[in-house]
Amino acid sequence: MIPVMKPLLGQEEADAAAAAVLSGWVAQGPRVAEFERAFAARAGAAHGVAVSSCTAGLHLMLHSLGVGRGDEVVVPSFSFIATANAVRYCGAEPVFADVDEATGNLTPSTVHTVLSPRTRAVLAVHQGGVPADVAALREACGDIPVLEDAACAIGSTVDGRSAGAGAPMAAWSFHPRKLLTTGEGGMITTDDAEVAARLRRLREHGMSVSAAERHATGNPVLETYTETAFNYRMTDIQAAVGLVQLGRLDGVVAERRRLAARYHELLAPLGVTPVTDPAHGTTNYQSFWILLPETGPAQAEVLSALAAAGISGRRGIMAAHLEPAYEGHPHGPLPVTEALTTRSVILPLHHELTEDDQRHIAKVLGEALTRSPS
Ligand SMILES: *Cc1c(COP(=O)(O)O)cnc(C)c1O
Repeated sequence: MIPVMKPLLGQEEADAAAAAVLSGWVAQGPRVAEFERAFAARAGAAHGVAVSSCTAGLHLMLHSLGVGRGDEVVVPSFSFIATANAVRYCGAEPVFADVDEATGNLTPSTVHTVLSPRTRAVLAVHQGGVPADVAALREACGDIPVLEDAACAIGSTVDGRSAGAGAPMAAWSFHPRKLLTTGEGGMITTDDAEVAARLRRLREHGMSVSAAERHATGNPVLETYTETAFNYRMTDIQAAVGLVQLGRLDGVVAERRRLAARYHELLAPLGVTPVTDPAHGTTNYQSFWILLPETGPAQAEVLSALAAAGISGRRGIMAAHLEPAYEGHPHGPLPVTEALTTRSVILPLHHELTEDDQRHIAKVLGEALTRSPS
């Protein structure tokens, strides 16, 4: 079976994890601090705050803004469900806005239709690595902060800078489905030193002085707990792996873009619309999705044909409002979201994918598409 994604992990990551274990410091410590600095620099931000997952990061970002009961946060339904769930963790209401068909992302006009006096923030996703036009969103939203769910977007660019650069806060994921993995893990980046300091306290039980700082000083330091907070820390074992992964990142992104370009050539005759770079930036092709023609076999039939030929595809990005967890949750019309989630298919893309694999995938897909819909 050709897998849809495969994390690139090797001896260097294993050695780095082993060194962290043998150092005796396994919880959040010096390697987390080093990973935060290196990742923030790569993401075009002044500060990085490592957390246990992107989901934890999304929650902390909203919590730090004081989002709570009675508030609304605009999110795309067209996203992994954690985006919307983070709003509910705060007791607030996720308000679903539709997305652009080409990028799968929020646009000024889709957001504009759902803004209300209760809107406290907009959470823009760079879906599957395709950058959202954040400059346009920021302009359209005025004083309402446009936070970024950059879970998939390390290595993607917007207006010549890293995705997430210039955001009040952006949250990243290091789950193995993404391009840079620490097993589980996440990061929040920001340019604001005070915001970073608050996030550091919030991820560590609200401690006034971090455990790592207390251990580093020879003298006893008494910490205080200023507010009810969370344990969303990353471990030094994870950070050690992340530092090695960061060194591989440019090569990983270049290789994915090379493979995507070949897909574009191979799929051109098939009448499908593959995801591509938008005008305002470049994608890391974290997910390579194609939009199926409106007339033709359904998504499930295409996925079955692929599976029968040893190819593991996936349905398009999910739509949260169609899941039981959001049954009865009010929302306006989401026609593009529904078209994308039901008419798109994610094709395999990883470093071990060969030219023969890609030709095989294009051939099987072409055959599946010429079958009449059942
Ligand atoms: C993967 C993903 C998340 C969740 O990331 P975790 O690190 O697994 O919590 C959130 N949002 C989007 C858009 C994602 O793709």
